[in-house]
Formats: sequence, C-alpha cells, structure tokens
Amino acid sequence: MNDKDIYKLILAEHNRQSHNLQMIPSENHASADVFKALGSILTDKYSEGYPGQRYYGGCEVVDKVENLARDRAKALFGVSHANVQPYSGSPANSEVYMALLDPGDTIMGLALSFGGHLTHGHKVSASGIFYRSVQYETGSDGYLDYDVIAKMAQKEKPKILVVGATAYPRIFDWQRLRVIVDSVGAWMLADVSHIAGLIVAGEHPSPVGIADVVMTTTHKTLRGPRGAMILCSGKPSTPLKKVERIKENLPTLIDRAVFPGMQGGPHNHQTAAIAVALREAAQPDFKIYARQIVSNAKKLALELKARGFELVTGGTDNHLLLVDLTNIGVSGKEAEDALNKVGITVNKNTVPFDPRGPFDPSGIRLGTPAVTSRGLKEDDMTTVAEWILQAIKGRADNKKLDLLSNEVKKFALRFPLPSDQKV
Ligand SMILES: *Cc1c(COP(=O)(O)O)cnc(C)c1O
Repeated sequence: MNDKDIYKLILAEHNRQSHNLQMIPSENHASADVFKALGSILTDKYSEGYPGQRYYGGCEVVDKVENLARDRAKALFGVSHANVQPYSGSPANSEVYMALLDPGDTIMGLALSFGGHLTHGHKVSASGIFYRSVQYETGSDGYLDYDVIAKMAQKEKPKILVVGATAYPRIFDWQRLRVIVDSVGAWMLADVSHIAGLIVAGEHPSPVGIADVVMTTTHKTLRGPRGAMILCSGKPSTPLKKVERIKENLPTLIDRAVFPGMQGGPHNHQTAAIAVALREAAQPDFKIYARQIVSNAKKLALELKARGFELVTGGTDNHLLLVDLTNIGVSGKEAEDALNKVGITVNKNTVPFDPRGPFDPSGIRLGTPAVTSRGLKEDDMTTVAEWILQAIKGRADNKKLDLLSNEVKKFALRFPLPSDQKV
C-alpha cells in the first residue's frame, strides 16, 4: 500500500484487535471473504435504483450481486421481501419511519437509558426531532414490563411501536407485543440488529411473521460488513404508481423510502459482502457458533456472579450482559478504563434507573460474539471473569494492570482473528 500513513494505522488496529479481547456486544470479526468483497472493484460502480430498474448503464453485474444478496436474505430469514441497500442501521430505521409515518406522527420505543437505540425516538436523533416520540422503560428488575407498554400504547396511540435494544440481555416476547400493537392499530418494527445472528440460528425467537417490518444491521451477531437490511412481506415492489400505506404495499413503501427517499447509489461492495455473510450464516457451523455465543455469555454471567458482580435481570438469555457495578463501588467509566488498560474492550453503560447519568453511568456492557468468533469457549470465560475482577480491583495499581495486560495479550494471541486464520 502506497499510503504509508494509513497502512501503519491499519496495522496498528490489526495489532490492537489481535492483542485484545473485544467484548463490546455490537462488535464482531468478519471473515476474510467478507473483507475481500468489501475491498473489491464493486465499490467503483454507480447503480441508483433496484435490479432491473437502474438509472445508470452497465449494471448487469451489480444487478446479479444485489439479487443474490436479496435472495439469500429472504431464504435465511423466511421473508418475501428484502431491501439490502441501507448504508447502516440508523439510516435504515429512518427509512422505515419515512415509509410508514408522516412528520409529527408518534413513535414509541425503548428509552436509550434503558437499553434502547438512539434511533428509537431519542430526542437528539432524527427519530426524536422529526417525529413525536414517547419512550417506555423497563421495570426495576431490568425486564420489559409488557403491561406498562400496553398502558402507554393505549394512552399515547403511537403510529409505530419499535421493539429492539442495544443493551437488553433477555428474550423479546414478539407475540405479546403484537397484541399491544393490534390493540391500538399501530405498525410494529422489530429492530433485531443485535440478535439477528441468534435468530437465524434458532437461538432467539424470530419476529418474522409477527412484526410488520424487521430491520437488522449486518455487522453485529450476523458477522458481515457494516450495513443493514429491511425485511418484510407483501406484494412485489411496484415502481411509480401511488401506493397506500397498507400491509401488502410494504415492499414498495420500504423500497421507495430507501431510494430515492433517503439514499443515493447503493454501496455495491457492501452489498456483495452482505451476500457473503448471509451465505456463511446459512452454513451448519453458524448454528454451532450462535449456540456457543449464548453458552459463553451464560457462563460468563455465572462466573462474574460467583465473583460478587451483580447483573441486570440476574443473567442473560442472549449474547450480552449488563453489569451493575454499584455494589463494587466503581463507576462504569472507571471499569471501562481499567479493562481497556488490560486489553479487555467493553463499554460503560447505564443500568435501569441509573442514578449516575449517561456520561459516567453505573454499569458496563459485555458481549461474547467477537471472542466466540475467535474460538473462546466456556472454560475461557472463567479466565476472563477472573481478569475482569482483578483489573477492576487493581485499577489504581499500574504495575498490576501491566502484568494483567501481558497475560491477556499472550492469551489473545492464541486465538487469531478469523480473517487471519487459514481456511
Ligand atoms: C447498532 C444498532 C442500530 C444502528 O446501527 P448503525 O449501523 O450503528 O447505524 C440500530 N438499532 C439497534 C438496536 C442497534 O443495535
């Protein structure tokens, strides 16, 4: 690579990832094939529109790429329509709102400080600026309280109920939420960004057939490139004609909101990489991977509890855990810093009804998707839990942190990144 400045930084990031354990639950390690598609010549091609209906010539090859990605998404999730063009999860959610709502309509989503995403109606995001937003919270036990959600829906009459989270360690009861949505005649958006990989592997119930629209990012448990997909059912997308906002028109409404509503030219290299990831996620070993993610998370939860840590909801059903550090006497930020020094990358996070606020919250969020991609198993979670305890206890002792950091590095190097593993 001629650009030595960027080359050095890429190497530095490669070293950082190899030497550390990535335990941010929204991160993962994509395969060498995903990287190859991302770094391919497909990035050069403009192709506004959809396969067979483009505003540019020379799209015969990228049409095939996009159709392959769409077909694989439909088969894997069991939907009749897939839009694979969203640049990422946040624009994808805006596109769903644009498809189904008018500005000023009411969005109801889980509050950010209770594990929701910014794009679920938080006031500083487009979803909270262009729409009227009402936000539900979890119960004090950290679980969604479906009765509270039902009451709020009755009172606020949202046009759309958004269900999904970035920091929720339990299963979503899609059917229960559908009953609430139907009682007020709203749309239901399932944002499964974090758990899509678990869903396709059968490790978490699927909202397909229950929610009206399913949105997922492609770079979290699904282990693809950064990107997103919007999935739904209905009549095939029809260009030009005016369409009513009814269920059978969802494919057309979504496709128009993505392009020309919000976006321009599709990122064809990204679409190809999504297709690669979808093929990988359809292989039998992906099921084993997803099961291991959950086993590792459950084991890590047990080992942390055995060391005196308190978990929001007392444990996990999925890939992540939320640790409430109040009883340990350390803040989320202090813990994040200490863990970063020893090479365990996590992020600070609010816990339900957090008295400390978002900039220095009471908790940390830990996830197993990335370390499981490197091959860590249940026994390794015991080692990791002990390091977490030692790092937090020794946070003022730089010598101890240095020693721990060496141990973590030696350990991490035994588990090469998937993109470096021989296939
Ligand atoms: C990650 C995430 C998003 C946004 O994805 P970006 O690609 O970061 O824009 C949206 N919703 C949920 C629930 C997420 O976890």
